[in-house]
Amino acid sequence: MEIVVIPVTPFAQNCSLIWDTSTMKGAFVDPGGEIEKLIKAASDNQVNIEKIILTHGHLDHVGGTVALAAHYKVPIIGPHVGDKFWLDALGQQSQMFGFPPAAPFEPNQWLNHKDSIELGELTLDVLHCPGHTPGHVALVERSSNQVIVGDIIFSGSIGRTDFPQGNHQQLIDSIKENILTLPENMVIYPGHGPTTTVGHEKATNPYVSGQWG
Ligand SMILES: [Zn+2]
Ligand SMILES: [Zn+2]
Repeated sequence: MEIVVIPVTPFAQNCSLIWDTSTMKGAFVDPGGEIEKLIKAASDNQVNIEKIILTHGHLDHVGGTVALAAHYKVPIIGPHVGDKFWLDALGQQSQMFGFPPAAPFEPNQWLNHKDSIELGELTLDVLHCPGHTPGHVALVERSSNQVIVGDIIFSGSIGRTDFPQGNHQQLIDSIKENILTLPENMVIYPGHGPTTTVGHEKATNPYVSGQWG
């Protein structure tokens, strides 16, 4: 799987343009906004967009979804239905985050733990990782050893849990059960900030490594 990270929105949210190099079929993961920039990235890389995939329902991750889905006439996949209340509240979220007005929407398909998403010849494995939001999912592509994690874990940090239905212990459990059990050399693409690896976070991330007790 080829991946190009495109930071969008005032929150520097990492939208991922992903594709299968053998078929050039691709998807956007978490298109938070600035869709002109995203459309240009897809055409520069000659990727045929087939899907839009969402890790969770926060506005900085989903703000460009409806416009992009209409532009490409493609389905919206994910997140888990636990985040329906966040998508229903997009109007309030735009006020809360100081973003342009956004309208609620429903994806064409909600995701569940251990679902798989086909993209050309690639398969993305879905891991349900609640805690930052109740419906948050991670997307694992095993052949290229990459995982897209949204706001579950960052390089040296983890997602906030002070939002409605956030839960710190649940997030720690999600990370330990689903992310830190992936291969140590797997590359992690977080929703904000630099990429990292499973092994690096296991050894150094103070929230989950246990090194700070
Ligand atoms: Zn978030
Ligand atoms: Zn975020």
